[in-house]
Amino acid sequence: MQRFNTAREAALSLRPDDPVYCFHPSVLKADARQFMEMFPGRTAYAVKTNGEELVLRALAEAGIEVFDVASPAEFKAVRNVAPNAEMLYMHPIKAQSDIRLALETYGIRVTVVDHEDEINKINKIVRALDIDPGAMTVFVRIQTKGHAAYELSKKFGAGAAHAVELLQRLHRTGYKVGICFHVGSQIEDPETYERALASADWVRNRAAVPLVGLDVGGGFPAEYGHDPNRKTPDLPSLGQIMSRLRGDIDEWGFSDLPLVAEPGRVIVARAFSLIVRVLLRKGKRLYINDGIWASLSDSWTGKITLPARFIPDPAIRQRNGDENKIVPFKVCGATCDSVDILSRPFWLPETVDTGDWIEIGHIGAYSLSLRTRFNGFYPDTFVEVTTPFDEGDTPQGFASLETMAD
Ligand SMILES: *Cc1c(COP(=O)(O)O)cnc(C)c1O
Repeated sequence: MQRFNTAREAALSLRPDDPVYCFHPSVLKADARQFMEMFPGRTAYAVKTNGEELVLRALAEAGIEVFDVASPAEFKAVRNVAPNAEMLYMHPIKAQSDIRLALETYGIRVTVVDHEDEINKINKIVRALDIDPGAMTVFVRIQTKGHAAYELSKKFGAGAAHAVELLQRLHRTGYKVGICFHVGSQIEDPETYERALASADWVRNRAAVPLVGLDVGGGFPAEYGHDPNRKTPDLPSLGQIMSRLRGDIDEWGFSDLPLVAEPGRVIVARAFSLIVRVLLRKGKRLYINDGIWASLSDSWTGKITLPARFIPDPAIRQRNGDENKIVPFKVCGATCDSVDILSRPFWLPETVDTGDWIEIGHIGAYSLSLRTRFNGFYPDTFVEVTTPFDEGDTPQGFASLETMAD
C-alpha cells in the first residue's frame, strides 16, 4: 500500500478519479487502546462495522483479542488474521448450518438468543457434536429503549419476563448464561446504558440463576465533526459516557460480573478518511464520484456530521468566488439513481470546482462495509496516510445538519 503524509499529498500525487480510502493505522490503534483502557471488562470489536483485513490485523496488533462476529464470512476473516482470537457469535437469529459451522469448525463457544426456538437450534447442534453444554456460554439479549441515532431494539431482544424464562431454561439445560443488550449505534443520551442496566438487574433478580457475564453491546459514540449550525447541545464525549457507565455498573451491582463490550463505530470511525473528486460543479451542486450506494450511506441519514477538507486542484488557474467564504453545496452521488444525493449539504469554500478533491474525515465505520456495486461503482483503492485527519490543517467544511433549498 502506498504511504503519504497527508491526503492532500496523496490526491496531488495520484490525481485519482476514483475514491481513495486513506487508512490511518495509528489512529485506529490509539482509539482501540483508549477504549480498552476505559472499559472495565473485555473489548470485543464488532466486525460488521468494518471487517477489512487491514483493520482486523491492526486491531489484533493493538491488543484486541476478542471479536464480535455474526456470519461465516466474519468467522473466516477473523480466523485468517488472528488465529488465536476468541470469537463471540452475537447474532440472535442464526441459520442452523451457521451454528454448526461456528461450533464445529471455528470452536466458538459463546453465543446469544432472544427466543426459545433459537435455543432449540443450538441444542440440536450441541447434541449432534457431543459438546458439554457447560462448555458453552449463552447470553440472553434483552430489549432496551433509548436514544441512539440508530435504534435496534425494535428488531432484537426478549422482553424482560421472556428473558427470565430463557435464562432459566438455558440454565436447566446446563449452559452457562449471561445477559446482554445492544442499545443501538451512536448513542446520544448518557442514560441509555443505565436504563438497560436497570432492565438487566430486574431480569437477573427474577431469573435467580448464576450469571457468568454481562455484555453491554456497542453504541459508544464516535467523535465526528463539529457543525456550527447545530442548535442542540454537543453530544457527550466517550469519556463522559464511559465514566457514567462505570458508575451505573457499580450502582446496579454488576461490577463483580465479568463484563464485555462490543464497540464498533467508536473504534474505527476515525481510522479512515476518504478522498472524493468533484466530477462536475453545477451551480450550487457538486457531483462527486462516491455516494450513498458506496462509502456514504451512513451519512445519508444526516445524523452524523462529517468533517471535510478542500483539496484544490492546482491545475485550475481561474477560480470564481472567495476561497475564505464557506458556503453550502448539495452533494450528488456517482450513480444514476435520483435518491443518491446526500441528505445534508456540505459546507465548502465558494471556489470549489470541477476537478477538485474533497477529503471527508471519519468515515471508517459503516462505510466500507456498506458499499454496493450498484451501477458498477465500487471504491476499492487504499493508501496509508500517516497524519491523522484531526491533526492536519483545520477542515474547512462539514456536512451540515441544516437542510438546503434546491
Ligand atoms: C452493530 C453491533 C455492535 C456495534 O455497534 P456500534 O454502535 O458500532 O458500537 C455491537 N453489538 C451488536 C450486537 C451489534 O449488532
